[in-house]
Amino acid sequence: MNISDIMDRLGVEERYYTRGPLSVTTPIDGSELAQLAIDDDAVIGEKIALAKEAFLKWRSVPAPRRGELVRLFGEELRRHKDDLGRLVTIECGKILSEGLGEVQEMIDICDFAVGLSRQQYGLTIASERPGHHMRESWHPLGPVAIISAFNFPVAVWSWNAALALVCGDTCIWKPSEKTPLTALAVQSLFEKAIARFGDAPPHLTQVTIGERSAGEQIVDDPRITLVSATGSTRMGREVGPRVAKRFGRVLLELGGNNAGIITPSADTDLSLRAVCFSAAGTAGQRCTSLRRLFVHESIYGDFLSRLKSAYASLPVGDPLEDGVLVGPLIDKDALNRMHYALNRAKAQGGVITGGDNIEKEGCYVRPAIVELESHDGIVLEETFAPILYVFRYVALDEAIALQNSVPQGLSSCIFTRDVLEAEQFLSATGSDCGIANVNIGPSGAEIGGAFGGEKETGGGRESGSDAWKAYMRRQTQTVNYSTALPLAQGVKFDV
Ligand code: NAD
Repeated sequence: MNISDIMDRLGVEERYYTRGPLSVTTPIDGSELAQLAIDDDAVIGEKIALAKEAFLKWRSVPAPRRGELVRLFGEELRRHKDDLGRLVTIECGKILSEGLGEVQEMIDICDFAVGLSRQQYGLTIASERPGHHMRESWHPLGPVAIISAFNFPVAVWSWNAALALVCGDTCIWKPSEKTPLTALAVQSLFEKAIARFGDAPPHLTQVTIGERSAGEQIVDDPRITLVSATGSTRMGREVGPRVAKRFGRVLLELGGNNAGIITPSADTDLSLRAVCFSAAGTAGQRCTSLRRLFVHESIYGDFLSRLKSAYASLPVGDPLEDGVLVGPLIDKDALNRMHYALNRAKAQGGVITGGDNIEKEGCYVRPAIVELESHDGIVLEETFAPILYVFRYVALDEAIALQNSVPQGLSSCIFTRDVLEAEQFLSATGSDCGIANVNIGPSGAEIGGAFGGEKETGGGRESGSDAWKAYMRRQTQTVNYSTALPLAQGVKFDV
């Protein structure tokens, strides 16, 4: 597959992707797209030094002016949406409308960040001492490292970078080694925005290409004030303690094991569509993909037979083609992990529908439904593939308890027209996840809300709401505008 025209339009020169030891392939047919150079330790160290230098200048630029740069970047994204969206599809295999949707998400977060650049509000606080006032201010934090996963190769970076930049921080991006081309393209678009902006310090954002060891070097460097890392729970388990050891800040967005509950009053057509999109869409390779489904026993038989028919008709194939809804898995390892999980589910007594390989170049597979009695073993693990484990339930309390019984806590949903059931699900005794939805699936979040999950999902929040506070440092300030020095709590210390 030839990408030189797209890369050219996106402004990436050929020399950046035609020589080097890192081979990049497309999951569409497994062919090689590019060969990239890898940064060595010295280059990464130099990039971190440059990020620090840029931060010392950028933090003094007024926040609304910083917002202007993000606004210009959003314009570049709008202008290049088709090419960048197509490159996302070519590099990570999601269908074209999702590739384009990912770029739209970048545009949306840029718009959000531009508004935020004029709203980094602090507080004024009443002081107990006469002639004093207190306030809370938010200041820029420092260089932010963004480590991203293959499945959202560009949107996750933008959730972090758009906020970090308006907050006065600089960014170093370590994209997944499986999807570095989209990172080069985004960096090139950012540089177009910088050129139009005029007087930005150099090196506000940089990309470093490398494998896991590159990520480890960044994670350990004390000049990086915040490490925002998106990926597997395995990765987070390594990154979290390493950053904590040097008292750095960490924002972890890790694996999910998301569930849905179909109650007797659910709108069947609506819930079927939602289940298909969230379980089989993106070939099950979203952190928010639906992996476990609890269906009330009174509707189980009918719902399952309709779900199986819908699955049988899902078009699987080349994600660039019109009409295809399920693209390939990222690589052979992912395919092997899917079959390993299906074998374990079978050994647990699971009845499998689908899951067979499709004869084609690339790793194409028919999404699988697994009916199970016991909610344990492989079900408790995240397998990054289109496998949906389905269970029958009798009482809602029991379904919610099972939903919450996994180590992960990202996203969840219930389908019901009963307001009591919906509110129970959303209450303190309901879903224990960072995201809880009613009558929509667990995937496909909007940027306006804070995104992230509990437990082994890592506890981080990024994107909308007040997630920006993670990218700033809070300072509590007390000013004495009197000529006396009263001490707090009535303490006396007269000299
Ligand atoms: P991965 O953990 O294999 O890799 C993610 C990134 O971490 C890559 O850039 C990789 O090079 C880097 N990395 C790996 N080990 C590291 C280490 N020890 N130190 C520093 N960096 C390291 O994940 P993946 O296969 O690319 O992505 C799939 C996983 O990501 C799934 O578990 C999915 O649920 C999760 N994910 C989570 C979210 C979220 O927001 N919660 C979003 C997207 C993906």
